[in-house]
Amino acid sequence: MNGAVSGVRSPAANAPSLLWQMLRAHAAPPAPPCPRCGYGYAIVPECVAACVPPVPSDVCTRCLQPRPAGPRRCSACAGGVWRVGRTYALLGYKRDAVQRLVLAAKRIEPWAIAALGRVLAGWLLAAARRSSYDVVVPVPFHRAALRGRAAHPLTAIYLDARPAVWPEVRADDLAPALLRQRHAHPARRALSEAARWRSVRGAIALAFPTRLLRGARVLVIDDVLTSGATVNECARALLDDGGAASVDAAVLARQPWRPARACRAVNLTMRKDRV
Ligand SMILES: [Zn+2]
Ligand SMILES: [Zn+2]
Repeated sequence: MNGAVSGVRSPAANAPSLLWQMLRAHAAPPAPPCPRCGYGYAIVPECVAACVPPVPSDVCTRCLQPRPAGPRRCSACAGGVWRVGRTYALLGYKRDAVQRLVLAAKRIEPWAIAALGRVLAGWLLAAARRSSYDVVVPVPFHRAALRGRAAHPLTAIYLDARPAVWPEVRADDLAPALLRQRHAHPARRALSEAARWRSVRGAIALAFPTRLLRGARVLVIDDVLTSGATVNECARALLDDGGAASVDAAVLARQPWRPARACRAVNLTMRKDRV
């Protein structure tokens, strides 16, 4: 889909935002070139940072939620639920233009898939390459999640970005994928935070026995981080079943959090279930 980058167009030409302007500036000619990085397929993180509000520096680096006053970790992390070492949100929080872009990708609109693939590739080549991850894997999907769509949005974005970053970044070629989803999720949007965590538990597994992950530093890619349960379940499978040394996560956008009671509900549920 690399040839489709010129298809990056704003669906809201009457309401141009900085993000749309930036994406247009990175489209192929005749658009005027980006003054910062030119026409490359991968959109460098500096160009993205110039047009999306940054993630505040004082949020928890694992779940990107505000920390309560005092302790080093947020309430979700302090509950011992999180297995992800560090999370990066490439486009910050899912609001405004970022939300429209992500929703367009969910509808498999080619311009949005290409735009997000280029943002992901730029970040992988810059930030992830510096961290030298041994393996980069996307969150797997169950075929039931296709629900009549032509493709799975995250997988389409990932496969769009992969040729631009390989071999500098060791992104899994998904042939076959390292992770698999054992069963379809219920419609997670309808679930409470705590129910979301419960529904995902045990849902992700290694697709086949492998030594590839032993001692590996793994980066998991997802499109939107909501409760964090899905990437966290990937981390659990990679660490406990695969023997990975560490798992970080990179998501395109973080769902803005609900009040802190959601976090506390998760922790209470998880603690109760462990007893
Ligand atoms: Zn640029
Ligand atoms: Zn946290």
